[in-house]
Amino acid sequence: MFVKRLEMHGFKSFGDKTIFDLTPGITVVVGPNGCGKSNITDAVRWVLGEQSARHLRGTRMDDIIFGGTANRKPLSFAEVSITLDHSDGALGLDYQEVTVTRRLYRTGESEYLLNKRPCRLKDILELFMDTGIGKEAYSFIGQGRVDEILNARPEERRQIFEEAAGILKYKTRKREAQRR
Ligand code: ATP
Ligand code: MG
Repeated sequence: MFVKRLEMHGFKSFGDKTIFDLTPGITVVVGPNGCGKSNITDAVRWVLGEQSARHLRGTRMDDIIFGGTANRKPLSFAEVSITLDHSDGALGLDYQEVTVTRRLYRTGESEYLLNKRPCRLKDILELFMDTGIGKEAYSFIGQGRVDEILNARPEERRQIFEEAAGILKYKTRKREAQRR
């Protein structure tokens, strides 16, 4: 499984629809300070369900909507889609490609889509649980995260191993069942 495409429209500095077509292997993004490199990884985190504006380097969630520039008007919504090559069937879905889309409007409305069909945030989180993908999983190691992992308490660090071992899903379900 690999990220095949990332499409952003109205997300942070991406006022124009911007598409990255990616291939397996390493992709390096270079550019001057402030040109939007970190905004790309924020987009990945956001589309995978990030709920914390702070983790996206903002204060309110609608900070991620393109706020305009000196000669461009702000946009009323942000949309990001991530497409994974799913020819290996790793997620257990019967599709060659899996696309997750998230939209947020300034009015506060938001939606998630899985292969263009509306779904819940919970569906997205469950889909990626134990796969290493996901907003806090080990596929996405943000700046400072390595230090954070090394300095974490053993119980916190254990989560990463549990995700890699594929048992986080069962622990989460158990916790949910106990709450009922
Ligand atoms: P560095 O090399 O310093 O890490 P970077 O390439 O990672 O820089 P980013 O942090 O991705 O840069 O981008 C910052 C830019 O994104 C700033 O110019 C900021 O004004 C712009 N930006 C952030 N949010 C929005 C928004 N909602 N609307 C428009 N522009 C935004
Ligand atoms: Mg940066």
